[in-house]
Amino acid sequence: MATPATLIYGDGIGPEVVKATVHVLEATGVEFEWDEQQAGLGAYEATGNPLPDATVESIERTKLALKGPLTTPVGSGFRSINVALRKRFDCYANIRPCVTLPNTKGPFEGIDLMLYRENTEGLYTGIEYRDDRNDIADAVARYSRKGCERIVRYAFEDAIKRGRKRLTLVHKANILKETGGMFLRIGKEIAEEYPQIQFDDRIVDNMAMQLVIRPQEYDSIVTSNLFGDILSDLMSGLVGGLGVTGSANIGEEHALFEAVHGSAPDIAGQGIANPTAIIRSGEMMLRYLGENAAADAVATALHDVYAENTHLTSDLGGTASTSEFADHLAARVAQIV
Ligand code: NAD
Repeated sequence: MATPATLIYGDGIGPEVVKATVHVLEATGVEFEWDEQQAGLGAYEATGNPLPDATVESIERTKLALKGPLTTPVGSGFRSINVALRKRFDCYANIRPCVTLPNTKGPFEGIDLMLYRENTEGLYTGIEYRDDRNDIADAVARYSRKGCERIVRYAFEDAIKRGRKRLTLVHKANILKETGGMFLRIGKEIAEEYPQIQFDDRIVDNMAMQLVIRPQEYDSIVTSNLFGDILSDLMSGLVGGLGVTGSANIGEEHALFEAVHGSAPDIAGQGIANPTAIIRSGEMMLRYLGENAAADAVATALHDVYAENTHLTSDLGGTASTSEFADHLAARVAQIV
């Protein structure tokens, strides 16, 4: 039976890369009943609302969304719809695998890292104060036991499912004794329930340095919102950039799969965008649904097509258009499944 899922094409290159992803997902034979909805700048221009009620109701119903990048006006206008969606559906776990593909010109070979980022608390609660009289501004970093427990537990459970061996908790508990201290303390408590996974911790500044010197020594990382935001982009850089890394936002009931990169207005409409990042997100969606054979087929086909080096997009030095890359990849997927 086809799985109902909300499909948001998004802004800029969104429609091009999402269409390519749907084509590749169809090649796996897994059937989706797509409910196409709008969000972002396009939705705002069409309806006056960047997050129409129909879109929220659709995700409420399907509990599953594949979403292209959304443009957020800088400095003024509406706030990020990406952040609003994650909050609205309490998608507390942001997962970003970083895996080396051949011919991506990353600085290292053989990277295979998982990052689990807490997605709803920390410095991203939006609680900020400004004291104009004294020229001071404060931001609140909110940590709760519930928030810390659920992201650490999610990381352990997911790491086990993926056959991972080690989980490193990243924090700044030496300076942030209450917030970072709480995250580390709860991490250590929960680690006792998972003796099959090697658990350790690193201070974030040291972790950033270690990741750019010897990333192969690490396996899975769990961290708080701000550190996860920064480290996950750093890790994308280790494997060839934002164009090749997918992302999933998982909650108790809902899951949103999206590209890590933005709407790339500079190349929108030219048919040259690399759809790999959102195809990776589609692969994560298949795995989330328990369609592991289909997800493995997408991963293997991506590896094969990158290794061939004949159908890559221009960001990677190739000459293929978005649809030529997607057609070639979909054909490879169909051979594998
Ligand atoms: P961006 O990621 O859109 O683009 C940065 C650079 O990378 C550009 O040169 C672009 O051409 C290139 N690029 C990005 N994705 C690519 C792809 N798939 N293939 C080839 N090249 C690619 O970042 P930006 O320019 O800072 O942001 C543009 C808009 O996107 C902003 O409105 C921003 O708020 C939004 N944004 C949305 C998301 C999201 O929806 N999750 C994430 C980041 C930024």
